[in-house]
Amino acid sequence: MMQKNELVKVKIEDIGVGGEGIGKVDGYTLFIKDTIIGDVVEAKVMKAKKNYGYARLMNVLTPSEDRVEEVVCPMARKCGGCQIQEMKYPAQLAFKESKVRGNLERIGEVPGELLDQIMHPIVGMDGEGMQPFRYRNKAQFPIGTDKDGRVTAGFYAGRTHSIIGNTDCVLGVEVNEEILNCILDFMEEFEIPAYDEVKHKGLVRHVLLRYGFKTDEIMVCLVINGKTIPHCHDLVGRLRQIPGMTSITLSSNTAKTNVIMGDTIRLLWGQEFITDYIGEIKYQISPLSFYQVNPVQTEKLYGLALDYAGLTGNETVWDLYCGIGTISLFLAKKAKQVYGVEIIPQAIDDAKNNAKINNITNAEFYVGKAEEVLPEYYKEYEKTHNGETAHADVIVVDPPRKGCEESLLQTIVDMQPEKVVYVSCDSATLARDVKFLRAKGYELKDVTPVDQFPHTVHVETVVLLSKGEVDSKKIRVEFSLEDMDMSEFQDGATYPQIKEYVLEHTGLKVSNLYISQIKRKCGIGVGKNYNLPKSEDSRQPQCPPEKEKAIREAFKYFGMI
Ligand code: SAH
Repeated sequence: MMQKNELVKVKIEDIGVGGEGIGKVDGYTLFIKDTIIGDVVEAKVMKAKKNYGYARLMNVLTPSEDRVEEVVCPMARKCGGCQIQEMKYPAQLAFKESKVRGNLERIGEVPGELLDQIMHPIVGMDGEGMQPFRYRNKAQFPIGTDKDGRVTAGFYAGRTHSIIGNTDCVLGVEVNEEILNCILDFMEEFEIPAYDEVKHKGLVRHVLLRYGFKTDEIMVCLVINGKTIPHCHDLVGRLRQIPGMTSITLSSNTAKTNVIMGDTIRLLWGQEFITDYIGEIKYQISPLSFYQVNPVQTEKLYGLALDYAGLTGNETVWDLYCGIGTISLFLAKKAKQVYGVEIIPQAIDDAKNNAKINNITNAEFYVGKAEEVLPEYYKEYEKTHNGETAHADVIVVDPPRKGCEESLLQTIVDMQPEKVVYVSCDSATLARDVKFLRAKGYELKDVTPVDQFPHTVHVETVVLLSKGEVDSKKIRVEFSLEDMDMSEFQDGATYPQIKEYVLEHTGLKVSNLYISQIKRKCGIGVGKNYNLPKSEDSRQPQCPPEKEKAIREAFKYFGMI
């Protein structure tokens, strides 16, 4: 065990879930922020528990080969928004790939040899070795007052709620800085106070900025602790000078809360939404809508989901956790029918609207929890369709970090889709759910991690599961029995064939009449011309038990029962 304040030399060997480096000293595990795999560092123990402790980086003694020469954002360590900016991009990718693989092996119990065959390299942002910045289309800056009493925009320091000024986050677009400065200058000039969280006083709380990468449209939404902003007209006059400005709105949030946005939006200028595209699909995004923050990588992610779904135009597809219908609409053009399910009603409104503006008519959306809507649909369908079960060809899930409820996974298994496409933002819960689906007969066919969030520890993964081969054979047999017509059926086992089999195996002679009687007893279709009773009271000889047994044996032999 270590002592507090002890100085130690450590080699960093792994990275924890929060991005902190992990190293060992005599078997004792230390978590050290701001270090990366391969660093040899001097660190000071700050907190020592029985089996592990936390230490502060004092000195990098030998930098890792994967350490960048110069950090792009000087605020990276203080801000915490980027956890691994000090790592070269290829090393970030390698780290994320091995994290996904590790979780699938450990938690998902997927054999390593299988992963060797089906797991693809992580899809990073383009340009080998390049450091991808400015990929985010959305930024939310808190507004506050710095120690000199000036209004400022930036980020919260560590776990506190004091704001460190930084108007140029390098993950966001460059124009953000111009917009923020415009707002800060305006506030300064008209002495409009920033919000003070502790006192619950002041006006301007947050600025939400969005940028359409394909359209260059800009959205500004000011979140205020009040209903109106003084000299609003002046502010709008300045902001609309910025090229691309499309939407200026206010959101009133007067609650004492950490939640950023208020419930309502008031339009100040332009329109309430901006438009952007993913692939061919157009999306209208309002301040309260969820929209993927890295549009370049999202297009690749959805492209993979579409590939995995393997659509030909005849499929029924469910998109669970559909948000504003992003994946649903991406798939709709290639499917027969898409059903989306999402818990947030406004997101479903957006989804319906997005379907409309893209002239997509084969997508329907339901509000509710996926784990309630799908099982209820399944039960209801069975009730109203004489016990026939609801069918889906492809089910896509894109759950939040906690993954899917087991009840939902069970319903998916009951519905027996050919394919399950799982889009995940947490590979640990993905692995847990993959384990469940594999145990129920689904095979893991393909895994591809996608880097949606360079410089952070987060990684998206898309996997394809499909029904195992044994199962699909079974389905083919069930299908053939139900759907073949009689002539085809008799090709397999004709009356003469059955007679012959019975004679050969029992020495008994059976008539067509007896065969048809037993067929009917077994629930097998009977050809129209075979000895159906002409009327209720027509008297016919009944097949004796001994012969019935022999005929049943023949049916079994020919796979008819
Ligand atoms: N597929 C969408 C959204 C994915 S984010 C896209 O790519 O844009 C996950 C979504 O799941 C969020 O929109 C969230 O509101 C929704 N959600 C969370 N819990 C849910 C639940 N139990 N049932 C249905 N949707 C849920």
